[in-house]
Amino acid sequence: MRKPRLMTPGPAPVPEDVLLELARPVIHHRSAEAKQVITEVAAGLKEVLQTQNDVMILTASGTGAMEAAVVNTVPPGGKAIILNAGHFAARWGDICKAYGISAVMVDTEWGQPVDPARVAEALKQHPDAVAVFGTLSETSTGTGHPVEAIGKVVAATPALFVVDGISGVGAMECRADAWGIDVLCVGSQKALMLPPGLAFVSVSPKAWAKIDAFDAHTFYFSLKAARKKMKEFDTPFTPAHTLILALRAALRRIKDEGMENIWLRHKRMSEACQAGVQALGLELFSAQPAEGLTAFRVPDGFKDTDIRNRLVDKFGITTVGGQGKLKGQIIRIGHMGYTDEIDVVAGLAALEMVLSDLGFEIEPGCAVTAAQQVLIGQKAVSPR
Ligand SMILES: *Cc1c(COP(=O)(O)O)cnc(C)c1O
Repeated sequence: MRKPRLMTPGPAPVPEDVLLELARPVIHHRSAEAKQVITEVAAGLKEVLQTQNDVMILTASGTGAMEAAVVNTVPPGGKAIILNAGHFAARWGDICKAYGISAVMVDTEWGQPVDPARVAEALKQHPDAVAVFGTLSETSTGTGHPVEAIGKVVAATPALFVVDGISGVGAMECRADAWGIDVLCVGSQKALMLPPGLAFVSVSPKAWAKIDAFDAHTFYFSLKAARKKMKEFDTPFTPAHTLILALRAALRRIKDEGMENIWLRHKRMSEACQAGVQALGLELFSAQPAEGLTAFRVPDGFKDTDIRNRLVDKFGITTVGGQGKLKGQIIRIGHMGYTDEIDVVAGLAALEMVLSDLGFEIEPGCAVTAAQQVLIGQKAVSPR
């Protein structure tokens, strides 16, 4: 069997020390040891989400955090503004629909960043909107949205700013408190270097005021219940506490490297990957690339599955194609979490060889050289 190389924007690779935690005997979830673990991860999660607010731990995939964010903040019949710029942003609308919430869709072309001025306009038109639902890193298009600027707009209104940071947090700069994010949703299997199964939600005092004002139509995803238990470093139900043990190990790694350094590493990886892809004559899909993945258009005359299958067969590299209307049109390479610059260089080298095999005319080494030029500083990484 080939050495597996997971280069997908979730799930993403898990470090060896984190995997070893998962091999330990299962402890009891109400034991002193379990409480100690939650106490430790509670502090680490605040650092990752850059918040002083409590971060709730849910046993669910990332979508569970999104569902909790919707059902707890907007009462049935209430109104929400959705910054719809991709497959995952559209999910906010689907969740609202499931709960009888009226969703005002502010559409942005896929691959383009959301314009904060349009958010201001929508809020003016819909002053009764309870919340604005946006995305930090739209994984379906590989786009990073200007969350800081949007946060400023929303903070000036009574509406809450709810952000899907599932593939963004831990891969690109995101400061929940400083940027006016009221509810920030994160999943375990993207940049947090864990397997799937846990989701995290931070909640601001402004959001708690709305949450406390009504009884949400949910039992398992009640944030009020989660808050109550979190005060005792506990969870309302049996959590995936083997994953919480693994989370502690992942957070120790994160603390060791430091958030600023982590953001910088992802910035270097994304700029190197973009430079490599462009050196091959391929077109980046996004006008404002996110930092945990790179999306590029499938070159004319080629099939995405031919490229991606060959990457797996020859080099053990898993990538993903397009979702929804982008199916067959783009390829997405993940470089988040337990991934470093040399993984990106290796991925580009493999891409060169695979494209060459398929008859795409390339100069061997051109993508690798372009990436290395970024990494050795011959081409400056752009300032944040
Ligand atoms: C992966 C992802 C999701 C969905 O998360 P699940 O863990 O699959 O439920 C939602 N939003 C974004 C931006 C994602 O990358």
